[in-house]
Amino acid sequence: MEIYCCGCEEKVEARLTDGSEIYPHRNDLHELPFWRCAACGNYVGCHHKTKNRTAPLGCIPTPEIRKARQEIHKILDPLWQTRRFKRKELYQKISDVIGWKFHTSKTRSIEECREVYRVIRDISNSSALPSTLS
Ligand SMILES: [Zn+2]
Repeated sequence: MEIYCCGCEEKVEARLTDGSEIYPHRNDLHELPFWRCAACGNYVGCHHKTKNRTAPLGCIPTPEIRKARQEIHKILDPLWQTRRFKRKELYQKISDVIGWKFHTSKTRSIEECREVYRVIRDISNSSALPSTLS
């Protein structure tokens, strides 16, 4: 399947494999599907809990981007988990600023991750009233 690879910075013909190749020491993950780029070896997981269990979770990240996405989730998730924002509204707000439909799995570079992080930080620092009071 053709998937954008962040390491190669282009669409690559990714190969379907499973967790026994990606995480040989994690028996619990061996059954899970992954798409792997033959050129750089990076990989992406799948929407394995859905009907289409081999549908990739966005583009193939580099380890650096994977880490940056985790950092994004650390400041993003509490904003809706604490109900300060509705998740959908929050994602929309971010999308409006960055100009593309936001999801962490779609970030393609460290620069994009940085931008998204800054936007979320600004939103979280804004003194706007919670949606229930505005
Ligand atoms: Zn690649």
